[in-house]
Amino acid sequence: MFDKILIANRGEIALRIIRTCKKMGIETVTVFSDEDVRSLHVREADHAVHIGPSPAPESYLAKEKIIGAALACGCRAVHPGYGFLSENTRFADEVTKAGLVFIGPPASVISLLGDKTTAKRLATQAGMRVVPGHPDPLNGIEEARIAAKTIGYPVLLKPAAGGGGKGMHVVVKEADLEPTFTTSQNEARKAFGDDRIFLEKYISRPRHVEIQIMADHHGNVIYLGERECSIQRRYQKIIEEAPSPAVHRDLRTKMGRMACALAEKAGYRNAGTVEFILDPDGAFYFLEMNTRLQVEHPVTEMVVGLDLVELQLRIADGQPLPLGQEAVHINGWAIEARICAEDPERDFLPSTGIITRYAPPRGKDVRLDSGIEAGSTISVFYDSMMSKVITHGETREAARHAMIQALNRYHIEGVYTNRDFVNAILNHPAFAEADLSTRFIEENFNKKQTERVFNSEDLHFMVMAATLVYHNRQTLVRDSLKPMTAKVGQAHEEKPFHDYVVKGEENVFQVRLSRDEISRHWSVNVDDHPYRVITPHFEFYRRRIKLNIDGQNQYFHLQYRENFIWVAFCGITRTFEIYTPGEWHLVRHMPTATREEKNDTLFSPMPGLILDIKVKKGDWVYRGQDLVIIESMKMESGVSSPCDGEVKAVHVQAGQTVETGDVMITFES
Ligand code: ADP
Ligand code: ADP
Ligand code: MG
Repeated sequence: MFDKILIANRGEIALRIIRTCKKMGIETVTVFSDEDVRSLHVREADHAVHIGPSPAPESYLAKEKIIGAALACGCRAVHPGYGFLSENTRFADEVTKAGLVFIGPPASVISLLGDKTTAKRLATQAGMRVVPGHPDPLNGIEEARIAAKTIGYPVLLKPAAGGGGKGMHVVVKEADLEPTFTTSQNEARKAFGDDRIFLEKYISRPRHVEIQIMADHHGNVIYLGERECSIQRRYQKIIEEAPSPAVHRDLRTKMGRMACALAEKAGYRNAGTVEFILDPDGAFYFLEMNTRLQVEHPVTEMVVGLDLVELQLRIADGQPLPLGQEAVHINGWAIEARICAEDPERDFLPSTGIITRYAPPRGKDVRLDSGIEAGSTISVFYDSMMSKVITHGETREAARHAMIQALNRYHIEGVYTNRDFVNAILNHPAFAEADLSTRFIEENFNKKQTERVFNSEDLHFMVMAATLVYHNRQTLVRDSLKPMTAKVGQAHEEKPFHDYVVKGEENVFQVRLSRDEISRHWSVNVDDHPYRVITPHFEFYRRRIKLNIDGQNQYFHLQYRENFIWVAFCGITRTFEIYTPGEWHLVRHMPTATREEKNDTLFSPMPGLILDIKVKKGDWVYRGQDLVIIESMKMESGVSSPCDGEVKAVHVQAGQTVETGDVMITFES
């Protein structure tokens, strides 16, 4: 076995690989950019080599620097992780030429399967059905028009070299084909340096199901079951699970054997994933093959009980697979949720900053693959995915429940995250019923409504959490104001109950708290619904609390400012105002202050690089019209006008970087 390897990656996946290396007694070397000096993957590795400035092309994508570091440190092999150089044919080739082992398939295989059109041809030869479409990259718009007409709208334009959903666009009618084709080409050129586009029939409500395979250098190929990754946004996976609720035993065997047949035909080695889309009637079509370890590999590990990174290392070392197909068994169910720094309330704009508070979820059914800790910086340079929460249970329902609890307990402060949105998906009845498709989010959530439907009990729980925290805090403040009073003999001065009026966003709740001083249990009435509550650890400094309500533990996130308490629970977020009945009497008669909003300035909503400004001084603009395109964390976002009006001045220019809140454009409205 290798005694030392280099990990050409960062974040959670670098840490994931380090973990297995430690277990196997392999020394690790990581590389890092300026931005990552203090990051976890630098600290956790045995050695770390600085390889350049923060932009990925000058560091994590700089092949020579990485290979140079591997040689200088005496490494024997290179693990590319996912993203970055993991599917780069030239990198794999150069690593091998430098006398190092590339932990992945041979360069020639990456090149064959990395091009989606050649991969589809190979899949057809291996006996698979592929998504109907034009077999080759399109030579111009005319060819696209004919192909689309033959296949029938809607069609999906896809970059041949694609990955991460970039450059993919649906076209529903011929009139949109030409402009969309150009957009796809431009995006593909930017993302992959290759603007070849091909076209497929757009399947309307499929599931995404993929097969994990492993192939060694001795002719053995096995499949480790499937994963379902239908919950996606912008063609990017958000929640994944194994097994798939739509795949029964026979279908698994069929898909698995086909995936292995393709691997054999391609001369595949190491870990790989064959992606399919699955029709409601059980027909499946080959999409693409990913020639690397995937983001969602942990759900497979949890159900088959294998360490995929360990298998990758053993295979790369020339060892035969330690098990055959008959020894692969699926136990229970696993779900993964990707936690990203983005703001669901602002159309998932990336969010950057320093993690000021951090409390990871723990538990025997919870696994956290994280690249962050308190103090970590989330920068504009890299992917917005910070960590992955993985839960396991005997059944899908148990794994789902464990995930909801884990997300309720996972506290990240300092950047916006998709945690509550992901939790809303997990709590959605359609998710619970496994009624999944790649359009799930589109069908069940919309731009304004990132929440799920909820019942009055959920709301009552949140009201209780807010009121108890408020009460506790008032009591603490009151006690601290009279430090000189003797405490002895005062216990019975306490009132038997405390009433509060809690104003929610749509309702007003009457809450009565009373505490049994002996058992220390609370009896809580919310609008005359009685609950029994125990406050086991009233741990609040991490902004999360645990309450035992009617015998069940529940976890909440809270933040307060005066009478306002913000609460998050099971994907619902609400702000409550809390008053004593006396205060409420006064507050109710006060005029609500109307905040005067001045909308004559366009501020930058995030840090990033300005790619394009679509207007100039004197132009008339409409509210909602995209005016500036900003790139941040590998994503381009349009920033839209806050008002109708005339552009008075443009304060920024393309190519410039901006911070959150920088003035970009002013208007005369
Ligand atoms: P998976 O199929 O493993 O779920 P994704 O398609 O979501 O993976 O991509 C995995 C990671 O690699 C993501 O961080 C994604 O942004 C990144 N990525 C994928 N393809 C590319 C690419 N061609 N260039 C750069 N980054 C990529
Ligand atoms: P990437 O390399 O970006 O992962 P894929 O070809 O795997 O690209 O497609 C990503 C996602 O886009 C799939 O998981 C699926 O949800 C959707 N998709 C791809 N092709 C089609 C299609 N022909 N019809 C409908 N959805 C598709
Ligand atoms: Mg894919």
